[in-house]
Amino acid sequence: GVPIGVLSGASPEVGAFSATDELLARLLANCSVPPIQRTRLERLAVTDDLTLAYNGRYLASRLLEEMERSRRSKAPLSLLWMDLDHFKLVNDSHGHPVGDEVLRVFVERVRTATSRVDILVRRGGEEFVLLMPATAAAQAKVIAERVRSSAADEPVVVGDAKIRQTVSIGVATWDGAESPGSLQARADEAMYFAKQRGRNRVETAREKRKRRAKAATAPRATRST
Ligand code: GH3
Ligand code: MG
Ligand code: MG
Repeated sequence: GVPIGVLSGASPEVGAFSATDELLARLLANCSVPPIQRTRLERLAVTDDLTLAYNGRYLASRLLEEMERSRRSKAPLSLLWMDLDHFKLVNDSHGHPVGDEVLRVFVERVRTATSRVDILVRRGGEEFVLLMPATAAAQAKVIAERVRSSAADEPVVVGDAKIRQTVSIGVATWDGAESPGSLQARADEAMYFAKQRGRNRVETAREKRKRRAKAATAPRATRST
């Protein structure tokens, strides 16, 4: 008894549809139910309940997909690694439900400050990742700064509480060859630098260290005495 979709057919002619057409339409509509429901369930399985961002489970597969797309299209791919600053204090001073609201507001602000094609993931707790297809390093930094200030510039108001919730951000751009793990580690490291350097900051990831020349990495000959 719950509608899950609408199938619409129209014709400029009066009485264009016969009983057989209607039967066919019903058949088509009924066939569409399982795929629509499956798609909704699939989306639900990769969605974080609290913020409606994607959940951590989704990040690995989507990152691989975006790398593949970037490889084919030669478009750059960047990401932001974000961690809210001193978030534990919000819970400790205002309670968990207020903390939850701060997380929701943060996500709203990120969405406002970024593009609809960017993929926002809540990795867990108060850590988020934003995947930005077709975004080069310089542009990614600008977006990171916009996200940072959208959090810092306006306190989050929950009931009587006014909370200034800042975020530390690491920015990394895929070098076209490194593994997803390496890209994420570089972004995470940059975020960590932002924390070390006082929080409420954006730091850019260092380039991946190039492999040393073959001779230098070859296993050392064991000394025979
Ligand atoms: P730092 O600036 O170093 O990142 O400090 P922090 O306090 O943000 O970091 P820490 O990892 O110590 O604390 C994270 C806190 O996030 C602890 C945990 O209670 C809280 N948290 C994680 N998930 C949720 C959630 O879903 N809702 C709420 N309200 N709090 C959460
Ligand atoms: Mg934190
Ligand atoms: Mg954290």
